[in-house]
Amino acid sequence: MTDLRDVLRARTLLAPHLPETPMWSYPVLNAVAGVEVHVKHENVQPTGAFKVRGGITLLARMEDRSTGVLTYSTGNHAQSVAYAARLFGVPCSIVMPENPNPAKVAAVEALGATVEIAGATMVEAAGHARENAARQGARLISPADEPDIIAGVGTLYLEILAGRPDLDAIFVPVGSGTGAAAACVVARAVAPGCRVIAVQSAQAPAAHDSWRLGEPVQRPVKTRVDGLATGSAFALTQDIMRADLSDFTLVGDDEIHAAQRLLLTHAHTLSEGAGAAALAGLLARRDEFAGRKVAVVCTGANAGPAELASLLPS
Ligand SMILES: *Cc1c(COP(=O)(O)O)cnc(C)c1O
Repeated sequence: MTDLRDVLRARTLLAPHLPETPMWSYPVLNAVAGVEVHVKHENVQPTGAFKVRGGITLLARMEDRSTGVLTYSTGNHAQSVAYAARLFGVPCSIVMPENPNPAKVAAVEALGATVEIAGATMVEAAGHARENAARQGARLISPADEPDIIAGVGTLYLEILAGRPDLDAIFVPVGSGTGAAAACVVARAVAPGCRVIAVQSAQAPAAHDSWRLGEPVQRPVKTRVDGLATGSAFALTQDIMRADLSDFTLVGDDEIHAAQRLLLTHAHTLSEGAGAAALAGLLARRDEFAGRKVAVVCTGANAGPAELASLLPS
């Protein structure tokens, strides 16, 4: 299983490509929350989300990159892999399910990747990706069941805890679970007193329910929050969370939207829904953390046009 050595190695691999991201505390936000909140700004990554740490780490460690890479995703995982592939000059194709968001297709194509539209759902798109990868001999990259992705994402939690080993807790939004699993790996090794608390939308609770039940379950995806829209659990991230996650909180999409607005007005920060879910989770439990020091990861900023408009006061 992924451990601190893997994360330290990933940090060395990433150093030439990605600077550390800032973490700031905002007095007006602290006053609203009643908590000393530290916002880790992954929304300033070049792809607008933390996932690029995992993509670059995985590609950097591939032994034979000449085969090219292939993955399936509608969003930030696709951009992460496409960005890393461009960095290393590797052919990259992404399978997206039918009716993709044109802005997301454009973002991936701008990075030089090929987009293939196939399948009515993400599960069907994954099936197409598997077949294509086998036919082309390309390396198929899972969105989550990849130790190198978890190690790369772990560098984010190393940055947080190296700077603030005295934190009482870190809130992490969960879709497939790479962020929460990576946080568990790093906290266990360097700050065992810091609790890792996962947050998911109550409108897509597959990872939460799988963690609570101790077995993988599928759940309908009704959330508007793309980055958290995952209908099933991933084995590797669930195993790690089962061992070391302190707790798992569900929040509603409306609470996430309110947290997005709060980040915009009180932390000068644009987040997509998933990027505000950690703050929403903390606010739902603010009494328990009153006066404590807590980090929330603002994981991403890739809000679409309608989402951006919905953040402005009406
Ligand atoms: C992917 C993503 C998440 C969820 O992360 P997982 O590692 O899939 O659990 C949260 N926020 C943003 C912005 C994301 O892109």
